[in-house]
Amino acid sequence: MVELTKEDLEQRLIRLRHHFHEYPELANHEVKTTATIKEVLTGWGIPILPTHLKTGVFAEIGHANGPTVALRADIDALPITETTGVDFASKIPGVMHACGHDTHIASLLGGAYLLKQKEAQLPGKIKLIFQLAEEDKEGALQVINDGQLNGVDAIIGFHNASNHPVGAVGIRAGITSGAIDKFKVTLVGVGTHASAPQNGRDPIAALGAEINAIQSIVSRNLDPFKAAVVSITHVTAGNTWNVLPQTAFFEGTVRTADKQVRRQIKARFLEIVNQVAKAYDIKAEIDWYAGDPSVDNDPRLTEIIRDETSKFAEIYDQQPALGSDDFACYQEKVPGVYVNIGNGGKVSPHNPNFTADDGLLITGATFFERNAIRLLTELNSKGSASRSDNESAAQQV
Ligand SMILES: [Zn+2]
Ligand SMILES: [Zn+2]
Repeated sequence: MVELTKEDLEQRLIRLRHHFHEYPELANHEVKTTATIKEVLTGWGIPILPTHLKTGVFAEIGHANGPTVALRADIDALPITETTGVDFASKIPGVMHACGHDTHIASLLGGAYLLKQKEAQLPGKIKLIFQLAEEDKEGALQVINDGQLNGVDAIIGFHNASNHPVGAVGIRAGITSGAIDKFKVTLVGVGTHASAPQNGRDPIAALGAEINAIQSIVSRNLDPFKAAVVSITHVTAGNTWNVLPQTAFFEGTVRTADKQVRRQIKARFLEIVNQVAKAYDIKAEIDWYAGDPSVDNDPRLTEIIRDETSKFAEIYDQQPALGSDDFACYQEKVPGVYVNIGNGGKVSPHNPNFTADDGLLITGATFFERNAIRLLTELNSKGSASRSDNESAAQQV
């Protein structure tokens, strides 16, 4: 394995990041991205683990006798046409790394390189997770169902953050992102001539009443100190001027921070939609899709990450926001911490003008390297403490 200075490594990561940015791939189609990641890891002597998934890469560094810490980066891009004009802009029409996942891939590759250098001294095992399909919110579940989280004791990751200085790290214990739910409702009435509404049952009149009533959930049912959003984003009904249609359709999303509020909104939503439909003598067919839970950072591990990260980066208090990230799915299985790292840009993700500064890559790599080692050390001492407790208990018997 060629030894790189920190400057050489940074240059390598920048070139890699630019390559991923030029050739972005959509969720579940990250074929070339997967091949490039494997090539780089293999070149550094890091073994790739088997998987049933077509995209995404899993790899291992370290030793089996000890705890396992997983490091996660998401690798997919978005169906957006880039307008930034940067010299490494997307070469794929209509596809762009507009969420900065290219910076996550390069950072985790950097972390992997640094950890591989120290492999002999690692007090446990590092599992690298280059996760497919974050944007369609199903990648993390695919990774979990593939068994990749088995044996993992803790997991960490980061998302780049606009409007923060390059390399500044935003950390917060507890909930930092929204849970996401989606609904689709079809109101089924009886179609009729527009001049004779008495012969039908009008789903459009009911649709108007539903929209108004649903808006009362946040304003009239929730504790004003609790945050939530209920948005109806798509409405269709009818197709001409003199026919009352048979059906009307609406869909939208619910974003919540608090688990109890999430349950409360769903219950109230179902009640309102059914009762309003009943009042208009029509039927409501409701599909409710439970999406990702909230990112919920383990308090003890967060303090460890905060302490370690403060030794090499500026720290700020991460503000919670109602966007979602499927990193939350891992945290339902193992304790984890998800932080932000400032990207120095002013444009929010998912915008065609989104940019992220290359300067965050080396901080990202260091974040993974230093915190992986620190967590292994902490988990190891905790593990050996409980082991020696057991031993002394055994001796007493
Ligand atoms: Zn995104
Ligand atoms: Zn993202």
